[in-house]
Amino acid sequence: MFWDKKIETISRSGLERLQLKRLKSTLAGINKNVPFYKDKLKKLKIKPDKIRNLEEIRNLPFTTREDLRANYPYGLLAVSLDHVVRLHTSSGTTGKPKAILFSRKDIEQAADLIARCLVMTGMKKNEVFQNMMSYGMFTGGLVMHYGAEKVGLLVIPAGPGNTDRQISLMQDFKSNAIHITPSFALYLADVLEKKGVDPRKDLFLKRAYMGAEPYTEATRNKIEAIYGIDVYNSYGLSEMNGPGVAFECPEKNGMHIWEDNFLVELVDPKTNGPVPEGKEGELVLTTLCREAMPIIRYRTGDLTSIIPGKCRCGRTHRRVSRMTGRTDDMFIVRGVNIFPQQIERVLMAIQGVGRNYQITLDSLDDMTVKVEIRKELFDGKVDHLVNLQNTITEKLRDEIMVRPRVELLEPGALPPSEGKAKRVLDNRTL
Ligand code: ADP
Ligand code: ZN
Repeated sequence: MFWDKKIETISRSGLERLQLKRLKSTLAGINKNVPFYKDKLKKLKIKPDKIRNLEEIRNLPFTTREDLRANYPYGLLAVSLDHVVRLHTSSGTTGKPKAILFSRKDIEQAADLIARCLVMTGMKKNEVFQNMMSYGMFTGGLVMHYGAEKVGLLVIPAGPGNTDRQISLMQDFKSNAIHITPSFALYLADVLEKKGVDPRKDLFLKRAYMGAEPYTEATRNKIEAIYGIDVYNSYGLSEMNGPGVAFECPEKNGMHIWEDNFLVELVDPKTNGPVPEGKEGELVLTTLCREAMPIIRYRTGDLTSIIPGKCRCGRTHRRVSRMTGRTDDMFIVRGVNIFPQQIERVLMAIQGVGRNYQITLDSLDDMTVKVEIRKELFDGKVDHLVNLQNTITEKLRDEIMVRPRVELLEPGALPPSEGKAKRVLDNRTL
């Protein structure tokens, strides 16, 4: 099923013509209205109206997360405030958040992409869609909500957590589809089992849309088997609207990335050079339809590859494979993006903390921070140790919004680092 068959199955040459036209108009807009980009283009002597083909994108500057932070709050805005109707921010990182501003047209456009995604997987009017993603500053809830309403689904804005209520809503309103993180889907399965609710018999689910954090094919299979449903991988990031950037079709073999809205590049994160189809690289995206806040050559940090060949579903927009990781050392616990440097900064500012520490990721919801503390503290009162442990836990929680388990160790207890320290041990078997 198609939401907009013409654009979803557009010929490659037609698509490229459209991309070039949109790229040029995006560049003309930011060159006129965004001093940050104007300066960059001027330094590189790039004239938007002189761009002749899509390959020339490679001459343009990258935009990084740091650029977004440095231009917080309004620095990258390309329209006047009377055209801006919504703010979203990206979760979980240090310092200032990344602010993403939407015009009314941007919201329409984002909803339209979601509508494509949902209809592509078979959703129809009069189906019931329970949205278990966070509403608010996070894009996951609201952006998906608008798209689902656009399709005409009955949308239940349940938000995350509150498991008992989720279950009764699913039962009472006979929800057919859920939007959920993999970690919450697994947790919910445990609760259902404890309550004696059989998800295959006592619920009405047919589909789940799962994303916001990396997970493996094995996790998908596990969740599909538990619930007796189809799980579709959903990829997005706030900087590019949120969900709806790339989404699986019923073939479940890679995610179609909507190339009429995003110009897709894969670059080698070390050399910044192009990566051929089928090979892994960092996904770099340029918005082609954004009005309020266009972004060019955005370094997503996400590692993936372009799947060669045509998809059997008939869509011509290329597919990207499941994200295999990130170029930086960010990790995600409970859906929150965390950088090891955040933890290091907190630890190193606390009296009594030694030099070495290690983070172990035990599950999608749990992490342990092992930290060496000064020898003399072990010789003192136990109360002091407990206090220190509590202080560390609370300060970390304040910084990363997730409460880690904290273990205090004697100096030398952790393996010494040879060369680059291995700070994060990921024990998660997804
Ligand atoms: P959030 O606030 O959603 O965490 P961000 O925009 O900060 O929003 O997070 C987006 C990041 O989440 C992506 O860059 C990617 O690393 C990760 N992500 C989102 N969806 C997926 C997915 N389906 N598979 C793997 N990683 C994903
Ligand atoms: Zn397809």
